[in-house]
Amino acid sequence: MNFARAVAATGRSHGDMETTALRVLDRGGRVDFDVQHVDRTPRTVHAAQLSVTGTALEFVPQGSCESGTVLVPLSALTSVQTDHGVLSLEFRTKGELHHLRLQNPAHKATPAAENADTDTLGSLRNIIARITAKPSAK
Ligand SMILES: [Zn+2]
Repeated sequence: MNFARAVAATGRSHGDMETTALRVLDRGGRVDFDVQHVDRTPRTVHAAQLSVTGTALEFVPQGSCESGTVLVPLSALTSVQTDHGVLSLEFRTKGELHHLRLQNPAHKATPAAENADTDTLGSLRNIIARITAKPSAK
C-alpha cells in the first residue's frame, strides 16, 4: 500500500488515511511512503521510499545515496521530529547514532496527489509516533 497514492486515490483526509495505515500495520502489513532523502555531502535531495511495518522502518533510496538501504528496528529509534519541512529520524545501531533526514516528495502527478503529498511527513511522523508509543498493546 502506497500511502500518498492511496490518499490521492480516495480523496480522503490524512486523518482517515492514518487510521487506515495503522489498521494495516496492526494486521502485520506494511505501508510505503514516497519521500525525498537529504544527503549531507554533497548536499543534495533525491527520491527514496520509507516503508513502515509494526516492527521496523526500511529506507530504500533511489539512485546514489550516502546512506544506502537502511533497516531500522523501531526499538532503535531514539527521536522522531519535524522541523521546517524536514522529518529527522534519529536511531542507534551498534552503539552509533545515525540520522535520516526526509522531505515531502517532489514529484506530483496530479493536483489531487499534490494536495495529498503536502503533509506526507506529518502523517509519517504521526504513524511512527503511534506505533512506537504502544509496541505491544492491541
Ligand atoms: Zn540519500
